[in-house]
This record gives sequence, structure tokens and C-alpha cells, in this order.
Amino acid sequence: MIELDNISLAYAGRTGPVLALEGTSLSVGQGEFAAVVGPSGCGKSTLMKLVTGLIKPTTGTVSVDGAQVHGPVKMAGMAFQNANLLPWRTVTDNILLPLEIVEPYRSHFRAKKDEYRARVENLLSIVGLQGFGDRYPWELSGGMQQRASLCRSLIHEPKLLMLDEPFAALDAFTREELWCVLRDVWQRLNFTVILVTHDLREAVFLADTIHVMSARPGRIIDTRTVDFARPRDLDVCYEREFTDLVHVLRNKIAEVRKA
Ligand code: ADP
Repeated sequence: MIELDNISLAYAGRTGPVLALEGTSLSVGQGEFAAVVGPSGCGKSTLMKLVTGLIKPTTGTVSVDGAQVHGPVKMAGMAFQNANLLPWRTVTDNILLPLEIVEPYRSHFRAKKDEYRARVENLLSIVGLQGFGDRYPWELSGGMQQRASLCRSLIHEPKLLMLDEPFAALDAFTREELWCVLRDVWQRLNFTVILVTHDLREAVFLADTIHVMSARPGRIIDTRTVDFARPRDLDVCYEREFTDLVHVLRNKIAEVRKA
């Protein structure tokens, strides 16, 4: 589904070029849940922008779904640390927003509004927000806003979901609740995921594969397969193999931070 082949990316910094990525290669299969972890500033967000076509690599190629990326990838949904819901729109109208502004949905928006609203209802029920469609974002908790943001990123039925630290601003209990929401929505809808996170337990709980990045210039220095049976529940986090893997990843990152 995603192939990054020997990418380098240099930003034009104020005092000269900043090499964010160098020799970065990554491969993610259809329907796979991949996590990317690494020290701060190693280029995780840059990697996300390359995959979604928001920036172009300096050298190397990026392919998504068999085609080389030359501009914004429409089949991707994205969610970030902040839910960024518009306060003057209801939850339903926030979730509908991408369909209102992006083609080909935009041209059919009036004609298909009932169908699109049914999609919203379906997503709200998958993430546990049924009955909240008429509320405004400021009436919801942070966790509920993030659930709504997840629905918005999935409303156009993307084949690929890109998540950049989506739960970082939530308290520990809410974060774990949201892991389960993401697990369930992914299992129901079968899209491919790249999750960027600082939280190693989050990566191990959710992902099939975890890619560890080096310090800047970032490249993938280790890839680990996570074998725990699915569906996983939160009890797995207290198993020996789980904490062992978290430990291994932690040591890897400590090593590359020092290097
Ligand atoms: P991460 O998400 O892992 O924290 P980023 O991908 O945001 O890292 O950034 C990687 C490196 O590139 C950082 O050192 C950052 O300072 C630098 N960088 C990011 N964006 C720009 C930019 N627009 N101009 C110059 N340098 C940038």
C-alpha cells in the first residue's frame, strides 16, 4: 500500500538546508496497522507529509496504492493531536465538512446529503458517540472531540488513515479508551494505518508492525512485528511479552538519542 524508497528530504532552513530524512525506506501492506516511533525531531511528521503528498522528497520516491505520489493523496484520512473541530458547527456538520468541500463529494453534496448523514450516524455509533451528532464541540470532553475527529477523518471512506500523535493531549484513562475505539474502527473498516506516536505502549497495543526511526536525519533503523493475537484487549498491556517489547523499543530510542 505504501512504499518509501530511499528518501531524503531537506528543508530550506533559515540558516541553510535542514536534512530531515536521509536513506529512509518503509513499506506498509494493505490493511496493515503500522506505527512509527522515534525521538522528537527525527522526522516523523515529515514522513507523514511525504506519504500524503503535502511535500515532495528531495530524492527517492513515494508510492501509495501502486502509484507514485506527485500531489495530495485524496484517498488518505488524517487526524492530529488537536481535534480542530469548528466550534460553530455541530458534531455532524463537522464530520460532514470534508464532503462539503472536497471533490467529487462536493458536487453531489446536496443530492446525497441523506446518504452522507447516514454515514455519519454509522461512524458515530462505531466510536461510541451515538446521539451526540447535534451537540457542539465545546459541549464534548477532549476524548469525545477526538472520537469526532476520527469520524471526520474517515467520512470519505479512506483506504489509508494517517494519525499524528492523535491521543497525546488526552489523560491516560481516556487515551486507553481511545486505543480501543481505534482498534474497533480499524477492525470494522479494514483501512491501512500509519500511526506516529511517542507512546510505546500505544504502538505495541495497536500495531502489527513498529518502525523505529533514528535521530535526525531520520531513517528506519529497526522494524518489529507485534504478534499478540487479535482482538487485543487492554489486559495484554500487563503481559510479560508486552512489557518486554516496550522495553526493547525504549532502549532502542535511548540509544539513538545518545548517538
Ligand atoms: P518529528 O515529527 O519527528 O518531531 P519533524 O518531521 O516535525 O519531526 O521535523 C524533523 C526535523 O526537520 C526537525 O529537526 C525540524 O526542526 C525540521 N523541520 C521541520 N519542518 C521544517 C521546516 N519547514 N523548515 C525547516 N526545518 C524543518
